[in-house]
Order: sequence, then C-alpha cells, then structure tokens
Amino acid sequence: MSDKDDAETMRGRLRSERVNSLFSEDELIEDYYDQPAANDSSCWNDYGLSTLQSSGTVSSRSSSMHSGSTEGLDAPTQLLPIIKAGWLDKNPPQGSYIYQKRWVKLDADYLRYFDSEKDTYSKRFIPVTSIARVASIGDQKFEVITNNRTFAFRAESDADRNEWMRTLQQMVDERKFKGLNRISLFQPPTGALDSVDKCGLLELRGFKNKLYVVVAGDKVFLYKNAEDYRQGIGITYIEMNVGNVKDVDRRGFDLTTPYRIFSFSADSDQEKDEWVEAMQQSIAEALSNSEVAEKIWSVEANRFCADCGSLNPDWASVNLCVVICKRCAGEHRGLGPSITKVRSLKMDRKVWTEELIELFCQVGNCVANQFWAANVPPSEAIHVASGSQERRRFLIAKYKEGKYRRYHPLFGNQEELNKALCATVTTSDLAETQSLVFCGAEVSCFSGDPDFPNPIALAEQAGQKLQMEFLLHNKNSEIPRVEAGSSEEKHYSVILPSVTHNGFLFKTPSMAKLVHERKSREEFSRRWCTLNDSIFSYYENDRNAVPNGEIKMEEIVCLVNNPPDTHGFESTFEVYIESERLYLFGLENPEAIRKWVKSIAKSFIHPRADELLSHDFERIGRLQYKGGLNLQRAKEGWFALTQSVLYAFLEDSDKEEAVHLKKLQELSVQGDSLVLVERRRTLYIQGERKLDFLGWVAAIQKAAGSSGDTLSEQQLTESDIPVIVDRCIDYITQCGLTSEGIYRKSGQNSKTTSLLEMLRKDARRVRLKEGEHQVDDVSNTLKRFFRDLGDGLFTKEFCQDWLKAAAIENEEEKIGQYRQLLSSLPVVNRATVKALINHLYRVQYFSEMNQMNTHNLAIVFGPTLFQTDGKDYKAGRVVEDLISRYVVIFSVDEQEMRKQQDEITAIIKMRIAGSSSGTQQAGDFICTVYLEEKKTEAEQHVKIPATMTAEELTFEILERRKIDTKEKEYWSCFEVNEREEAERPLHYSEKVLPILHGLGTDSYLVVKKQLSMENMLIYLASRVSDSKHGMMKFREERNLLGLGLSTGFHDRYFILNNSCLRLYKEVRSLKQRMPAVENSHRPEKEWPVKNLKVYLGIKKKLRPPSCWGFTVFYENEKHEKQQWYLCCDTQMELREWFASFLYVQNGGNVWPSESSKVRASRTQQDSSFFETYEPEA
Ligand SMILES: [Zn+2]
Repeated sequence: MSDKDDAETMRGRLRSERVNSLFSEDELIEDYYDQPAANDSSCWNDYGLSTLQSSGTVSSRSSSMHSGSTEGLDAPTQLLPIIKAGWLDKNPPQGSYIYQKRWVKLDADYLRYFDSEKDTYSKRFIPVTSIARVASIGDQKFEVITNNRTFAFRAESDADRNEWMRTLQQMVDERKFKGLNRISLFQPPTGALDSVDKCGLLELRGFKNKLYVVVAGDKVFLYKNAEDYRQGIGITYIEMNVGNVKDVDRRGFDLTTPYRIFSFSADSDQEKDEWVEAMQQSIAEALSNSEVAEKIWSVEANRFCADCGSLNPDWASVNLCVVICKRCAGEHRGLGPSITKVRSLKMDRKVWTEELIELFCQVGNCVANQFWAANVPPSEAIHVASGSQERRRFLIAKYKEGKYRRYHPLFGNQEELNKALCATVTTSDLAETQSLVFCGAEVSCFSGDPDFPNPIALAEQAGQKLQMEFLLHNKNSEIPRVEAGSSEEKHYSVILPSVTHNGFLFKTPSMAKLVHERKSREEFSRRWCTLNDSIFSYYENDRNAVPNGEIKMEEIVCLVNNPPDTHGFESTFEVYIESERLYLFGLENPEAIRKWVKSIAKSFIHPRADELLSHDFERIGRLQYKGGLNLQRAKEGWFALTQSVLYAFLEDSDKEEAVHLKKLQELSVQGDSLVLVERRRTLYIQGERKLDFLGWVAAIQKAAGSSGDTLSEQQLTESDIPVIVDRCIDYITQCGLTSEGIYRKSGQNSKTTSLLEMLRKDARRVRLKEGEHQVDDVSNTLKRFFRDLGDGLFTKEFCQDWLKAAAIENEEEKIGQYRQLLSSLPVVNRATVKALINHLYRVQYFSEMNQMNTHNLAIVFGPTLFQTDGKDYKAGRVVEDLISRYVVIFSVDEQEMRKQQDEITAIIKMRIAGSSSGTQQAGDFICTVYLEEKKTEAEQHVKIPATMTAEELTFEILERRKIDTKEKEYWSCFEVNEREEAERPLHYSEKVLPILHGLGTDSYLVVKKQLSMENMLIYLASRVSDSKHGMMKFREERNLLGLGLSTGFHDRYFILNNSCLRLYKEVRSLKQRMPAVENSHRPEKEWPVKNLKVYLGIKKKLRPPSCWGFTVFYENEKHEKQQWYLCCDTQMELREWFASFLYVQNGGNVWPSESSKVRASRTQQDSSFFETYEPEA
C-alpha cells in the first residue's frame, strides 16, 4: 500500500458519517451518560492527516504491516485472528434508548468496538477474561456482563444476536477453563505487574481530563482513569511495532502511528523523558523479534506462561518446550541448565531454528503441561501475581522434583523405558518421548543397533527431525528426583528451640585462630551472660542494659568442651562461629559450665540431630561432608565427638550413626577434606571454614590415635584387635610363615625400636612391605609390643589364675578353666589372644620348614605374654596349651578352620610362585566402571577399597567378565571426561579412590585396551634423551567464565624434561640455537610436570587444527587452576609427547615390568589368569 492509499484511508474516515471519532471527550463518557454522540469537535483527525502525510518513515513501515492483512476488518497490526466481527447497535448503559452503530470485533483476548470497520483504534475494549457472562434481553438484544459494568448490544436479527452470544459465551468458557488455576489471568495488565513498564496520568491533546496510560511490553494502553485500569476496561491500545516516539517540547511528545498521532504532555520534563524512554523500549521490544514469538504464539496455549499464566510470555525453556514469562524465566534460570535451558523468544535469535519453532508449536505449553502439571494441587499453583519465592518453590517442585508430572507406566524400569524411547523416536509421538525422557529413559542409551546406536541416530534415520531436536536439547538434562532438596535452605529455615540461661562467665577477647597455648586467668574478664531468644549476649555487668557483644545461635558452627584445667580456669568451653571467630569462656565451677554447654548446644543444634545432645560430648557442631554413592554434592551433617566415637546425623539418613575412630582403616587429610575410611564406607569431611575444621581435624586425629599403652587404647581393627598386632601378624602370615626360626631369631634392635615407635604413633599409616621390612624385625616388634603392654595381654588381675590353670592335671577341668578365664577378659584382650594363638597355630603348622613347633613357640611367647623372666615354664605351659588345644578352647568351627587353611595355602603357593602380596582391606566405595565403552550392558559395580590401584581395578573388571588378556594387550583404566571430550589412562599404580572423589558429573571410568601403549614403549626404549623438544599448537582456555577471548591455536616451541614443561614463543631464534637453548633462553611459560594432568583429546567445539591433541589441566599447591590445549600434526608426534609425559610423571615407570601384585583373595580362584597377564615392557 502506498502513501497515497494511506491518505485515502484517512480521507475515507473523514468522510464517514460518524465524524465523532472515539477520541473525544463525550465519547469517553458515553457509557455513563445518556447523551447523544453527535459532536464535530474531533480535534484529532485534523492533526492526524497533516502529520501523517509528512511522515515518510511511518508510512513505509506501515506499508509492510498492511501487506499482511487480508481483509478490511482486520486491523493491520492485529496479531490475533478475529473470531467474529460485525455491526451492532450499542446503547449507553444508563437506560438510554438511543443506540449507536458500532463495528464490533471479537478476538481471543478482547471484545472491542469501533466507530467504523476501517478504524484501527477502538472506542472501548473489554477483556474476554473479565466477562462474567452473556445474557439475552429480548428484541435482538443481549448484554455483556463484567464484574462491575454491563454493555448492551442490539443485533440486526435474532439469529445474528444468537450467533454473537454463542460465540462470546464459548470464548468466555474456553478462557475460564484454561485459566482454571490462574487467579488473575485477565488482561490488559491489571495484576500482571511484572509486565507493566510504566503507568500514570498523561494529558492527551484534545481532552480535558488526563488519561491513565500504561506501557506494557510491546503495547501502550489507554484508560479513562486509574479505576478503569484496575477493572481492566480500557479505551484502546496501541501496538508499538508501528509506533514512533518524538520529542516535541519541554513536556510534550508525540506517539506517531500510521493511523494516528497521539500528542501527550507530561507533568514535568523529567516525567516526559521517562515516558519517552518507556515507549521507545516498548517499540524496541515489539520490533525485537516478534517473528519467532508470533509463530510460537500462534498456538493458543503458548500465549500464556506455562507456569503462572501471564499473557504473551516471551521467554522459553528450550529443553522443556515451555513458553514462560519474564519472571518465571528468572526463576527457571536459578534451577540451572541441566534442568531448564532458558532462552528469549525475542533476543536469542540464533537458537530458534525452524525445527525448534515447530517443536514448540507441536509440543509447547499444552503438551508439556499435560505431562509436567498433570497433578497440581490448586493450593500449590502459582499465578501472575505470585512472588518470586512462591515461583521458585513451585518450579523446583514442578521441574526439578517432577512432583506434579504424569508418571509413565514404565517408570522405574530402566531397560523398558530405554526400549520404549528407541521405538517412540521413530514415530511422531513427541508427547510420549517427553514422558519417557522425563521419567528416566536415557537419551543416549544404546539401541542395540550399531548403525544407529542411540535414540538420536534412530530419530534421524526415521526422518523425525522434531524428535531429534527434542532429544538434542535434552541430551544432558537431569531427570527429576523428589529427594533433590537443597540443604542450605533447610538449615536456615529451621526454628531453633528457645533456651534461656544466664549467669557470670569469664571470657577472653574473640580470636581468629585455634588456642594452642594455655590462657591464664588474667586473660579472662568477668562478664554477665544471657542466653535468650537464640541470642547469647555478654554484658559488662548484670546491671548494664546494653550488651558488649552478641552471638546468634544460628551463627554457631561448633562448641567445644575443653578437658579440665586446659586454661587458667578449671572448666572452659569454646564457641566457633560462621565468620571464623572463636570465643573462650571459663569458670571454676564445672557444674555451671556443664549447664552452659548444654544450653548453648541445645539452642544451636538442628532439632533433627538433638539425639547428639545425649552424649557426653567434647565437641559438637555442623560440618559439610560427602559420602555414599554420590560424591558430587557436599551435604550437611551434625557431629559430636565423645572420646573415640564420632556420632553423626547425616543428611541422607535420619538416625544417628557412630564412627569408631580407633577402628578406622584409614584417616588422612586430602586437600580440604578429612577422609575417614571405615570398612563399609568412606566419609569425606570437608573444610567449609578453616577455623572449626582445623579444630575438628586435630580432635579426630587425636581420638583416632592410640591413647595409652593398654590394648583397648590402641587403634583397633573391625574385629577389635589392635592394628599393630594385626599388621604384624598379617605381614608374618604373608612373608614369614616359612622363615626359619621365626619368632625365635631376634631382629636388629634399632630397627625394632623404630618400627614399634612408628606403629605406636599411627599404626594405620604404616604399611609393612616385603623388602623394606625384615621378617625378624617385624616378629620382634610384635613380641616387644606384648612384653611392654601396660596391664599385659592376660591382665594383671587374672594373670596368676592363668598360670595356676596350667597346673591343673585333669584335662577337661583345665580346658574348662581356660575357657572360663578367657570369657572374663576384656573384649579387646580376648579377641587379641584368639588372633595371636590362631596365628601361632598357623606358624607351628609349617614347623617342618620354619623349625618352630608348638613347644618352641611357647618357650618364646610364654614369658613375653605373661611378662615374666622365663625362669620357669608355667607361662610357656599356658601358651603351649592354648596352641595345641586351640580348636577346643576357642570353639573354632570346622568351616572357619578350613577357610583359613585355604587362604594360607594360597599364600604359600603364591610365594612359591614368586608373587607377593601385602594389600590391606579398606572402606568400600561402590563405583560404576564400564568395560570398553559407556553403555548399560558394559556397566560393572565395583567396590573400591582405599588401597585399590588402577591396575587392581583393571584386573577386577577383566576377571569378572572372564576376559582372557593376550600378550601385548595393554588393558588400562581410563578416566573419561565427556565435557572436555578427553580421556586419560590412569597410571597402573594410581590409587582409584582419590580419582573417583575428584570425578565430575560428566566423567566416568572405563577399562579398555590402551592401543598406543606398545608404540609408546618402543619409542621410550629407543629414544636417546630423557627430554623432548618440538613444536605444538597451543591454545589457552581464557574464557572459563564463558566470557573472555577466544584465542585460537598458535605455534609454540615446547621442551619437556624431568621436572617441567616449558613454552617458548620465539620459535625462529630458538631453532637456530637448538639444542643448547634449554639453559640459555628464558621460556615464556613454565609448569612443573607434577602439577599437570594430561588428557588425550580436545573438544571439537574449539576446532583443533588436527585430531591429535591433548587437554592439559594444571593445578598448583594453592589450588590455582589452568586449562589449555596442545595439538600435534601427526599421531606419531602425539604418541611421543604423551609417552614422554608418562615417562617423566612416573619416574620412567610407565608399565609394570614384572608380574603384578595381586590381591590374595583372587589367587585361589584362577591362577592361570595371572600367568596370561604378563605384558612386556
Ligand atoms: Zn510466568
């Protein structure tokens, strides 16, 4: 349409009979007063025409808008299809009989009426949502009834009237049905506060009274006054995609459209600026990319936020396929991209491919909500006016926990779900795919068909582009889980019990580090202290009203009850708070301190963990921990330490658990974690804050160590045997059973002394190794331990009774007496006697080889165990009896005997075969390891003891799958990082547990052949020098935050030697001076090799120049991290570099050269297996 046509339109309207255009004073009061409408003062048309003709830009834009309109009755800017339009007579509501001819239009949102069918701007709009009902009132008349106003119309015939009523009622019902859970759905934006950008009174030229103007999204709405705005009934609205705002004078501005010019005037120039800006924003929003939005909104359900029901939502979650409003989008973002990927319909143009738009038209809010919102209780639903907390709670329940979803019948049956997904993706049933995926079917599961291995490939093959699109957006989506709660919120929303207590305490100034030194009385000051309403306050004295300071109970993270006389007061306690401060209090009165400690503990310990208060704790508080099968997320636990027991309330269990610290298999500090390995699990206590964590570490270490020289004060095994005894017996069993004169020969005195000292200090950490320790030193150490034992093995109390029993002549009576005495021993002593005698029984079994029969052993052990001088044989007699009548006295059953015998036979066989074994059992951590590739069928769940090496894990997997390894097959365990598209073969001696601990969600372990190992070993064997030089392409990862620069790959010269990797920029000068360069030239960068982790592969997104690349992670002692990429030109180069890295990082020991260390338990099962597994170096 040309400019001329525009002008024609205008002129047509000017000529029309009904000259009084709606924008006249009288028109605005039409609904209220019985008044004829004829009035020629339509100021507006005159301006409109002249301005329009001079405004080229407006016209040209309007012409493009016009081109889309099909018929005259449709306003050019109308986004919504018109459902019904026609002439009706309308009467002013207050009883007048004078009807006015109006052009009436109904679309999905509004009933509007106009002067003529050519008008763009209505005289009145009534939101469909505000219509309560439609009623017939006879004579072709009907009423449209809203909550506060009634509009009467007259049709030309009853048939026409009935048709209008039917259509209107249908629209109203539909909308009510859709908005069932949405309280205030009605538009324009009353209640939809989030979408209003600016509102207020403005003068519009030609009117006496100011109008109430609302800028919302891409429209400007005009209301007669604020009251009308609240009721939702307005004059007209202006679609801003055809708008243009112009400054006119100090307070005035024009909003120009191809059809009219609105000349507004604000109260001040500042106000005006704000209005101009808001309207310009609105234009920008309308023009931003309404194309995508329009296409997506063409489906009715997509025109309301899938979550709260707001109109015209212009955001979306591209993986969930829902269209959402701005406020919900904000909360969606908080759930993280693994749950919902938020994009704008208007701004993120690139993401909106044809397929995605089509997917939104086919799935969209309707299908998505049939699944996600199948069971929303009305009390939990949100609406347009909901606050952000309500929204967040609802969205977590809806998408993260999947609380309201419609469960798929196959839910919980992984295999069937996957099968069903593979079948469904080849059809067009997107709803079924959605249901399967969000009920647990795996998007990347193996289809069973190697040509189309996963659902995406199947969908592609079947030509199901929308299925593909959906699967691709959900490749890494998290499946909703109800238990996925967040601990932070739980903790702080808790209401702590209110405890009241007061009295005088002595207090030191608060401190920022642990108190190691003794604080004298003088360092404390007397303070009046109160505990009230979860606040501890201390005052100068009990008459002061203003406290010197306060501690909120919710800030307290740890409370320590010091041993008596730690400081200048008999009793003292310490309070640690979140902000890393420590408060020390004291009194001479232990009972009063006990009361204070109890009161404070009671008021800061989470109520669910209050059972901890029943212990006579030395230390109590909260700590972060990781444990169980999920090491990704740290959880909150409440802990109390009492002597050598650590009681815990862990987040994933609702009962108290006890960790016997003396029985730990391993206790170590790794980075910021304290690792406690029990037989059945590993617990990582994390240092969230430094101060209280250091306190806990020291206390736990102390409690886990030996505290005295009696048996029960030692570190113990699960079966209550001192770790010292267990370690020595185990070692002798593995290495010394056949050693001649075992236990009779004495070892080197100095070695025995130092070994015993080491074991006494921390037996758990001592690993006795063949070659490092001599059999006789170890046996001597064990004897020395028993000889020096405070209270002895048989206890001072019963010692003489044992010796007397040896003299009893009646065999039966004697055995009865031994058994009687045995049962009166403390638990640890009894277990230790049994373990030792059992061991000696084994030793004498091999007396032909070791020359130590029962009598010989008794001569040695009698005086040792009874701590006598050995002048008579009484003590020896007891030991001899115990060994020779071992089975009877200790009631050992046959099965147990046979089992032990088998074990020992296996050990001896293995020793003869030349292997050794000295592995320890430790806490079992169960982990999923794949064989050859990541797929369900290749999954193995393996218990990982703390001591397990990568090599042992590889064995375990191969053995389970009964895989015969052949010569030159280098089976290794790989750590695969899917996100980085890189993998790293673990060194055979690497411990698996710490690696599992550090593994991210997108990483896993796989056991497979290391194909290039042979070539690497050949290269290493043949090379001349230990260092490697050469060019590689280098790229730094600078944009870790997703910002920053993309740097690309650049040529750099590298030198790798025994200690570090160096990078040189000056390639040319270097080449000439090679190879002396290493010392003469300063590198641009240098990294110690021990801080590097080298992975094979580079993610394709970075467009590496070749496929022969590495991803290198660097982390130094300060935990500073870097990540970069190296790329080689050929596979051979890559192999050489990688081999060199392996070589320098492992001290030249790249692959085990001798037959490997094997766990004892495995030897009995399949000895041939080990013979085949002897790769050559
Ligand atoms: Zn919303």
